[in-house]
This record gives sequence, structure tokens and C-alpha cells, in this order.
Amino acid sequence: MVTLTDTASTTTTTTRDAQSTTLSRRIYATGLRCRVCGEGYPLDPVHVCERCFGPLGVVYDDAALARDVTRETIAAGPATLWRYRALLPIATEHPVDLGAGWTPLLHARRLGALLGLERLYIKNDCVNPTYSFKDRVVAVAVNRAIELGMDTIACASTGNLAPAVAAAAAVAGLRCYVFVPEGLEPAKLINAAVYGPTAVVQVKGNYDAVNRLCAELADTYNWGFVNVNLRPYYAEGSKTLGFEACEQLGWQAPDHIVAPIASGALMVKIARGIEQLADVGLISRPRTRYSGAQAAGCAPVANAFAAHTEDVRPVRPDTIARSLAIGNPADGPFAVRLARQSGGIIGAATDPEIVEGIGLLARTEGVFAETAGGVTIAVLKQLAAQGLFRSDETVVAYITGNGLKTPDAVAGSLPAPTQISASVEDFEETVLGTGACD
Ligand SMILES: *Cc1c(COP(=O)(O)O)cnc(C)c1O
Ligand SMILES: [Zn+2]
Repeated sequence: MVTLTDTASTTTTTTRDAQSTTLSRRIYATGLRCRVCGEGYPLDPVHVCERCFGPLGVVYDDAALARDVTRETIAAGPATLWRYRALLPIATEHPVDLGAGWTPLLHARRLGALLGLERLYIKNDCVNPTYSFKDRVVAVAVNRAIELGMDTIACASTGNLAPAVAAAAAVAGLRCYVFVPEGLEPAKLINAAVYGPTAVVQVKGNYDAVNRLCAELADTYNWGFVNVNLRPYYAEGSKTLGFEACEQLGWQAPDHIVAPIASGALMVKIARGIEQLADVGLISRPRTRYSGAQAAGCAPVANAFAAHTEDVRPVRPDTIARSLAIGNPADGPFAVRLARQSGGIIGAATDPEIVEGIGLLARTEGVFAETAGGVTIAVLKQLAAQGLFRSDETVVAYITGNGLKTPDAVAGSLPAPTQISASVEDFEETVLGTGACD
């Protein structure tokens, strides 16, 4: 990390102001920019363009990054997403850190063989601190909130964001309000409450109602709503899923990526991350294709893709994949465009296919995913059956949440335990079916 601070280390003043200037020099992010009209903004807690209401994204000094950041400086960093700090909009060298990121990329030989893929990889993000990829986006948003001087963080959650925010708030010592919709899996409510947030607030209505309320509250209170007013920073965390896949493949971009879609930010930012690695000279210019996976019971992005339009029509979600149940996805149009322009597809999986996908992944690769993972595996299977992949392509499927969060989704599809008395005879007769017959 030494190379990141060379300009700053020449400054010797000790006043507060000078210190904050010193810090700000260590950040390679230079501002925000509207992703629709290109209007520029400072690195403030803002997320919507005043000119066209488009969403804002973070821009970087790519020339400085190309000069200062190498494969070696990254590899010398921690075994967490903070190894990519220079490529994130965070200045501090000592971020609040739960150890998110740098999760295993598994060569999925058995599942690959079933699907006709020699080089299928599973990015296993089930093993993050609160058991979903949301720990990545929260790591960036919460540290940005601290840098912006905020003392309270909040979020609108479909289930996995709430525990990630509550855990980060606990470690950072921040006040914390997490907002969730009705009908969430009990495991997810417990997973949020256990970290002792100021309040877990259950809002009557679905996620889209929760999100509307949070947008109003973010206008009233100077709080960091990680996925509302801090959304440009939050979304940057998903780039690390793209960075890691490339680094773990020996600094090579995958040929094809399959990712689940709720708001669409995850998939779009994986692509942004991989492009950024090429922008700063860490990999050669990739030609990765991007495919997205939705639940059939909440498929506004897949519907738009099928209808050859970027006009994503909101839907009312009805699916067991609650973590993906966003009826009005903010990044939907960008996800449609990414899939179309890169040569990918956006597919949808029914509830029975989702359950089957969870079981298939567990039985072949030993990874127990929550419903979003079932969606991804089910769509991966559809795409393989449609002949979308060449057999020697490197395909990475993103498994973004842990199955222990949604055990009820599969409970009914699994055999009950075989009951026996504590005797060898009963074991042999009932389990092995070889009992003595006299
Ligand atoms: C939130 C979430 C996603 C999708 O994220 P978006 O960026 O909103 O598309 C995928 N998988 C899991 C498990 C999630 O919790
Ligand atoms: Zn704009």
C-alpha cells in the first residue's frame, strides 16, 4: 500500500485541515458522474442527477491508478476485498473491516460435467461474514458514511442487506435502522436483530414500498442509507466480485458470467469492475459475455430482455427467491443493455426450478445456497441446454447467499431422516436393508 501514499507522505503539516487534504489525496476516486447524461458531482451523499434524474456512478483517475497499482501491490494486500482499496471510493487505510470478500472460486467439475462445461467455476460468496455478498457493498458504503461524518446508517433490505448493515454498524459503533418488508424468512430477521441494531423496522408492504419510504427518510435525516443516498458508493462494492474472479483465474477475465439480478446493480458492477481492470492495465481488454438470472415470479428484467426493450416494466413479486424480489429494479435497463451488447441472455427460473437448482449445486459441489443461488444454477442450466456456451469456455456463476438463510425453501423436497432404535440389527434391517431373515 506504500505506493498509494507517495504524494501524501511529502506533506508534513499537522493541522486537521492538512490531514484531511492528505487523506483525500490517497483516494483515486475523483467524483461522481451521471450514468445517463454525464453531469459531474463531488463525492457527496447524493445518488440522483439534478439535471436528468439518472443514477450517479463513481469516476476514478485511471492514469494514476495505472501508474500506482500493479498485480503485485494488490496481491500484497489483505485476503479481503480491501486488497482492492485503491479501486474503491474509500480514503482511509484502516477501514472498518469484518473480513468480507476474497471468497473461494471453486472449479465445479461435477456440475460442469453434467452441463457439458470443462471450465465452470462457482464464486462461493455464501461464506462472507453475514453469509451473503451484501457484506461487500456494505463494507464500502459504511466506510464512506464514516468518512462523510455520519453517525447513523440505514438500509432498505430484501433480507440479506439488513444483517450485513447491522453487523457493520455494530463493529463501527454506529446507530442503525434496518427496514424490511413483510413476509421475510424468520432466519433473516434473527440474522439482523442479533447484531443489536437501533431498530429492525418491518414495513407493511413489499420491498418497493420499503424502498419508497427509505427514499423519503433519506431526504429528511442526515443518515447514510447504504442503498439510497450512498448507493453510488455501495454499488462499487460489487466490482470486487469481478476483480476477484479475474485475479483468481490468474488475471484473466472469464468468457461468460452468470449472475443473479434483483436491482441489477450486482451484475452491472461486476462488468464495470472487469472493465476497470482493463482500463488501468491489469488485464487485457476482455470480451466477457454477461448473462443474468431472475426468478420467474419477479422477472421484470428478463421480461424486458425477451421483449427486446430496455423499458423495464415494474411487476408485483411472487417468488420464493425473496432476496431477488425487487419489482422495480433501479439498474434494470443497464442490465438489459449489458446482456444484449455482450452477447448474453437474461433468463428466469420457476420456484420448482429454484429448489431443484439449490439441490443440484449442493449434491454436485457441496455448496448450500439460498434461493438466489438456486435461481442462478437453474438459469445456468437453461443456458447450457440452449447451447449458449462452448464446452471449453471459462464460465463463472455467482452464488451470492447461504442456504441456511432459507432452509424452508428446500425442506419439503428432502427425505426425512431414517429413524431407527439404537441397535445394529435395526440399522442393518432399516438402513442397509440386509437384516437377518429367519
Ligand atoms: C441483493 C442480492 C442479490 C442481487 O443484488 P442486486 O445488486 O440488487 O441485483 C443477489 N443475491 C443475493 C443473495 C442478494 O441478497
Ligand atoms: Zn444526468
